[in-house]
Amino acid sequence: MQYEKMVDRLYDALPERTKKHERFEMPEAVSFIQGTKTVVKNFSAILKVVSRTEKHLFKFLTKETATAASVDESGRLILNGKFSQQQVNDLVKSYVKQFVLCPECDRPDTKVVEKQGIKMLKCEACGAISSVKGL
Ligand SMILES: [Zn+2]
Repeated sequence: MQYEKMVDRLYDALPERTKKHERFEMPEAVSFIQGTKTVVKNFSAILKVVSRTEKHLFKFLTKETATAASVDESGRLILNGKFSQQQVNDLVKSYVKQFVLCPECDRPDTKVVEKQGIKMLKCEACGAISSVKGL
């Protein structure tokens, strides 16, 4: 059997989800605890990857951590309270799953559109328009 053919077979054997996510890099939060606060250093970089508004991600994170927060002049998110980088990352991941990945095809090429005053998630990859709670 030719080598290429074998690779093809291996690739085919991969679960669907693995193939679909190959190009999307889940943003990794870089954070540290300072006194009683948690500083998310790359908040603005995360925003770029998820391409959602600062306000929306900010609201999600403060709600999920049940705390107040602010964004400083260098674009870092400061959460009141101590959270590990792992915790912050888990929240970012669940944000991406809820509000960025297309529920139909799991691709991240989505944007928020408004239909009759209701915000919906439109997928540029498969064309699906999905209603997502809290968008
Ligand atoms: Zn899609």
